[in-house]
Amino acid sequence: MATAYLDKLNEQQRAAVVFGTDGPDLPPPLLVIAGAGSGKTAMLAHRVAHLLVGGADPRRILLMTFSRRAASELTRRVERITAAATGSPVAAEALIWSGTFHAVGARLLREHALAIGLHPDFSIHDREDSADLMNLARHGLGLSKTESRFPTKGTCLAIYSRTVNSGAPLAEVLREHFPWCAGSEAQLKQLFGAYVAAKQAQNVLDYDDLLLAWAQVMTAPDFAAHIGATWDHVLIDEYQDTNRLQARILTALKPDGRGLTVVGDDAQSIYAFRAADVRNILDFPDSFTHRAAVIALERNYRSTQPILAAANAVIAAASERHAKELWSDRAGVEKPRLVTVGTEALQARYMVDRILADREAGMRLKDQAVLFRTSSHAAQIEAELTRRNVPYVKFGGLKFLDSAHVKDLLSVLRLKRNPRDRVAGFRVLQLIPGVGPTAAGRILDALDLATDPRAAWGDVAPPPRADASWTDFVAAMTTEAPWPAAIGLARGWYDPHLDRIHEDAEARRADLLQLEQIAAGYLSAEAFLTELTLDPPDATSDQAGVPLKDEDYLILSTIHSAKGQEWRSVHILNAVDGCIPSDLGTGSTHELEEERRLLYVAMTRAKDQLTLGLPLRFYVTQQTRNGDRHVYAMRTRFIPSAILDRFEAVNWSPAPVASEARPAPAPIDIAANMRAMWG
Ligand code: ATP
Ligand code: MG
Repeated sequence: MATAYLDKLNEQQRAAVVFGTDGPDLPPPLLVIAGAGSGKTAMLAHRVAHLLVGGADPRRILLMTFSRRAASELTRRVERITAAATGSPVAAEALIWSGTFHAVGARLLREHALAIGLHPDFSIHDREDSADLMNLARHGLGLSKTESRFPTKGTCLAIYSRTVNSGAPLAEVLREHFPWCAGSEAQLKQLFGAYVAAKQAQNVLDYDDLLLAWAQVMTAPDFAAHIGATWDHVLIDEYQDTNRLQARILTALKPDGRGLTVVGDDAQSIYAFRAADVRNILDFPDSFTHRAAVIALERNYRSTQPILAAANAVIAAASERHAKELWSDRAGVEKPRLVTVGTEALQARYMVDRILADREAGMRLKDQAVLFRTSSHAAQIEAELTRRNVPYVKFGGLKFLDSAHVKDLLSVLRLKRNPRDRVAGFRVLQLIPGVGPTAAGRILDALDLATDPRAAWGDVAPPPRADASWTDFVAAMTTEAPWPAAIGLARGWYDPHLDRIHEDAEARRADLLQLEQIAAGYLSAEAFLTELTLDPPDATSDQAGVPLKDEDYLILSTIHSAKGQEWRSVHILNAVDGCIPSDLGTGSTHELEEERRLLYVAMTRAKDQLTLGLPLRFYVTQQTRNGDRHVYAMRTRFIPSAILDRFEAVNWSPAPVASEARPAPAPIDIAANMRAMWG
């Protein structure tokens, strides 16, 4: 067997890659727990390649990670390694089951739908749709009227989601995470019952259902065995960010743990706010009938020593941590820069200046990134980049899908496939002039009574005030077209409405054309809708969509979306208290520790250069009784004075603008001039 690829790995990585692969049995469970940049993901790619080179069937491998992008990077890497080893690549991307837990769940549920009591045409609701359905359920129960202090639809959904994903009782979730809602427990229980009933009646699943239904299927021993037998090997990256439900699925999938490999870093666990539980990784060794082997990786290949030293100092003070030491032999002279600036606007100017200077010096924009805590914090930097014509792609922020017109068009497709989907129904029907919520509700009720709602559009009495476009709508709903012509048909119906609803109809029209092109790449409406809902494309700096492959562009990303990635130069915005940690996050030690890990994740993305911005006048939206207030920022508490020597402190203010040096113009009396105009 040609295994030259093993030579590039260090001893610990190699041990992990080949672990248990030489005998006739599936390998015992394996946990690789190691710090940032230690080559965990690289190890995983090599392990999959090693299995394939050894003759494993790619269709019997399941590879799960936290985003579709990460999954496809992994499978492509596997293809490169196998190609180099054997001369003929294994079509890993096409054959291996890969993706997020949710996407794999969706595919499984669709495949087994009829056998588990689901309609195979179920729609998948994104968070916004789910909140809307929660709202419909809330109105249905009259809770929004009788209970003036009842939690908002978003909060209701967050409570529901956390309860489902953590498997904890509602009372406990309320007590620990939503204490201000504890008084509404009984009503919330009632609401969640109604919400679940509505989903079932409407044949929709939400994000959480993709895991919940999967976990439930796995409680039936026959099914668990059947589904578990689909794969020999199950490998998971970023395991520290999985929740209890995902861990349950895993133990049901592989009760003896054989064939299972998980990798992660407890110091990078940053999704507790979505019920991820770091216990999953800590409990892993004893979760199966066969005890798991644990391998640690200690050498960091990513960052220079000064960057690693600073990141290690930040995480060393963590109170809850599986201690591990990382070392790097990547010498570097530059310490991370801690740049104090007056305002966020100056921070943006400083960073864009540096980014452009580095580009001049030969570092592509693609090798640089700007990271921030939440999408809205990027506003200043986006403005600065736009002003100076620097192309960028933004990850983790507003998605293409979030814009109203894209949602409208997707809702048309969804409604056509599943007329019981009331969120899509309300959205689409109200696009028709003369149709309001009451009329829309009546139409949807009428369809609901039909045995075949898809065929029933023609029988629905036209709403009394609807205009002539009602007939076009019915035609759009009832005309059958093969995929992807179907999306063209839907767009054709929606198009005339654009001008009526939006001022910037032309730009939106271009987006929808682009959507149609994306759609053409999918085999079916179902595949297209599922993928777009689960992992929507990211927003870009120009309306024309994602930049071409050979174009150079800067990456802007939330820290959460930057997981697992690396750049030569990384800029972190707002390294101040009030941002990291956020003022919301300082409630409990647990939350505070998650904030520390967030900074650690951000810092460890950098290979050669790291810059942290410290705007003194940082604006935090703190909801006080008098409204929002400005908070004068302090350096983040995670960089205390004791570790300041790991950083290079820079105070920056822009050079005076040239015009300030020019002599002042001679005064004029414009008031006199104005009077003079009128004689
Ligand atoms: P994170 O915790 O951030 O996800 P990771 O542990 O998954 O990090 P990788 O992304 O796999 O780390 O690797 C970090 C960098 O080190 C990558 O550029 C990778 O190509 C490189 N690398 C990994 N292993 C080796 C090796 N044995 N020799 C040289 N470079 C390596
Ligand atoms: Mg990784």
